[in-house]
Amino acid sequence: MPELPEVEIARRNLERWFQGHRIVRAEADATRVFRGAEQAHFTRLTGRVKSLERKGKYLLITLEGGHGLMAHLGMTGKFVRRKQGESVPYSRARFHLDDGHVVHFSDPRLFGRMEPVPARELWELPAVKALGRDPLTEGLTGPQLQEAVGDSRQDLKVALMDQGRVAGLGNIHAAEALFRAGLHPARKPGTLTPDDWKHLARAIHAAFDFAFKEQEGEDITYLEEAGSVNRFRVYGRAEGPCSKCGTTVESFTQGGRTTHFCPKCQPLSSVASPAARKGAAAGKGTASAVTRPKPRSRSR
Ligand SMILES: [Zn+2]
Repeated sequence: MPELPEVEIARRNLERWFQGHRIVRAEADATRVFRGAEQAHFTRLTGRVKSLERKGKYLLITLEGGHGLMAHLGMTGKFVRRKQGESVPYSRARFHLDDGHVVHFSDPRLFGRMEPVPARELWELPAVKALGRDPLTEGLTGPQLQEAVGDSRQDLKVALMDQGRVAGLGNIHAAEALFRAGLHPARKPGTLTPDDWKHLARAIHAAFDFAFKEQEGEDITYLEEAGSVNRFRVYGRAEGPCSKCGTTVESFTQGGRTTHFCPKCQPLSSVASPAARKGAAAGKGTASAVTRPKPRSRSR
């Protein structure tokens, strides 16, 4: 499932494919990727691409003539480039280029979204305006992460996935970052130390860098697809050994999603977290490491 790194890879590919070329024809099938948007306006998306921007998981494409397109890959959407005449499974929309290539938007499950709008309105779309800080284009330091997430009363992983706080983290990379930082997904943001935030911000960048290294290329295979190999450190590894310590990786449901974590590397007790240990935060947190999240009351 595409998150910030996968969408950024798509952006870089599109930028390279469109560079120096013109879209001679744009066409789209009537599918629900257009939802309330004007599907007919997709055919206006011709000529040169002036800019290809991204915020979180949203792609914002500006063409000459003032036309724009917001694209969201949803769960299974991807852009692929093929020679004219080659078929692409689940192709929902197509850009025909003047170099004999066709850029397809392929989406088997149709959770992706396309919204053709005037380019000047792209950044004003409510879904885009509601996004929080983009770690890649706007930077993300420990203090910035604490400012964005620290006041949330939700579990740390759920708060990290809140697109209005940090834009672009989803289930996979939130789990990977927490594992790298040694933080339990059910920690409450208010219990983290400045060192914890610093480690977590670095871990988010490290998880993204790893994803770029493993996945960047013309064609991307998402984890849920046949033929993909799970190269992630903790995500999808429940019941298997932790890649760091060998302890059995556990999973539980959190905010409606499955969370994977190592109970030894990511203890729930703040006193046992590597960052807290390093900072010798004596007297803080509880004395014993609790490895399973307790049932939580939802009072606010
Ligand atoms: Zn471990």
